[in-house]
Amino acid sequence: MVDFRLSEEQIRLQNLAKDFAKKEIEPICASYDRKQDPKECFPTHAFAKAIQVGLQSIYIPREYGGMGLGDFEASLVFEEIGAADAGFASALCISASIAQAMIHFGTKEQKERWLPKICKDTDFILGFGVTEYGAGSEAYIASEDPKVGSKTTCKLEGDHYVINGVKHFISNGGCGKLYGVAARNSLEKPMFGTICTFFVDADTPGFRIGKIEDKMGQRLMLNGELIFENVKVPKENLVGQDGGGAAVLLDIGCSTSVTIGAIGIGIARTAYELAASYARKRMSGGKPLIEHEAVSLMLADMKMEIDAARSLLWRNTWLNDRDGRDYPRAAEVKVYCAEVSKRVTNWAMQIYGGLGYMRDSPIEKLVRDSAIMTIYDGTSEVLKQWISGQSHL
Ligand SMILES: Cc1cc2nc3c(=O)[nH]c(=O)nc-3n(C[C@H](O)[C@H](O)[C@H](O)COP(=O)(O)OP(=O)(O)OC[C@H]3O[C@@H](n4cnc5c(N)ncnc54)[C@H](O)[C@@H]3O)c2cc1C
Repeated sequence: MVDFRLSEEQIRLQNLAKDFAKKEIEPICASYDRKQDPKECFPTHAFAKAIQVGLQSIYIPREYGGMGLGDFEASLVFEEIGAADAGFASALCISASIAQAMIHFGTKEQKERWLPKICKDTDFILGFGVTEYGAGSEAYIASEDPKVGSKTTCKLEGDHYVINGVKHFISNGGCGKLYGVAARNSLEKPMFGTICTFFVDADTPGFRIGKIEDKMGQRLMLNGELIFENVKVPKENLVGQDGGGAAVLLDIGCSTSVTIGAIGIGIARTAYELAASYARKRMSGGKPLIEHEAVSLMLADMKMEIDAARSLLWRNTWLNDRDGRDYPRAAEVKVYCAEVSKRVTNWAMQIYGGLGYMRDSPIEKLVRDSAIMTIYDGTSEVLKQWISGQSHL
């Protein structure tokens, strides 16, 4: 029999995230969202507190100082954080997901060197660079043509690799202390067999942050350019096999797909709650909006879509925790929840009428924040190719 009740421990975790969001994120997110300079939009202080209460180290085993939990529990946390602010939640889930890949693919030395810092150091944030100017979706798709895909290279020279290339749009680019990067050991062979993944300390000579993007939504997360100019990285910083980096990327994708899916549900839930409450108060034709059938049907659709999305999220994360991770199964969550978050926020704006379009209402931020859901971390179109079996390793 399937049982959807949460355990006491899971409820405690959910409440921890809910209380954190209420106390530390909700009071500040609107003002950070409005800052003109994108570099100032990252709430350093609140993020440090999130690390302090253990939200960045949710996946990290207890022996290193983390919570040692799986995708199901992560999805409970990220729905709550996403309900408060999707940008903050995305920045946090990216960092947590990269740490998860270190657990699965890192050497003993890498784990001992970095995992305790990720748990304890309140400014030790992570980012991971895959996307390039010439390779966005291409970086997610297997192709036999060596010309297709990323162009950042790594060359083994003695006891170190030399990395050259530019990544862009990278989450936490600008506030990270440690960056993962995907680079190719050959541009003459198909991309998926040539990818190497490395961790690079932010203060490594030759590495620098370039442009910080000015985004329409999810502004509390920084997105920047990572520039690698003859960056010498010790061989010990290679994560996984030389040429086997695609497996590391898919592992990160397994975590980010479900946590971003959960964030999408959080956004949709907030939009639904605001719209339902507004529809009870706003009068039209002598009765509240909710008593007009067209509006109540819209609210019913919103609620059903959120419930269906959460059911898929819980089922697929439960399966991934029980049977082992499967990227297409995680991608189903990402695609479905992302699309629900966009539909529900647009319905909420419809129910708010003209007010929903104004910066005075909380709805317009939710619409802006949800707009990227079907694009970042693999577009819906590309992820559907994994779900249908067209793309595979
Ligand atoms: C807020 C934000 C955060 C991000 N964070 C990160 C990060 O941390 N790390 C990182 O590496 N990247 C990150 N990205 C980059 C993101 O993953 C890419 O933007 C995304 O993969 C799409 O690539 P693109 O923008 O180049 O679009 P394109 O690849 O140019 O796609 C444009 C359109 O064409 C469609 N398309 C392209 N190719 C195909 C195809 N083969 N089949 C069907 N349709 C196709 C796409 O679905 C899309 O609709 C982030 C982006 C944003 C905006």
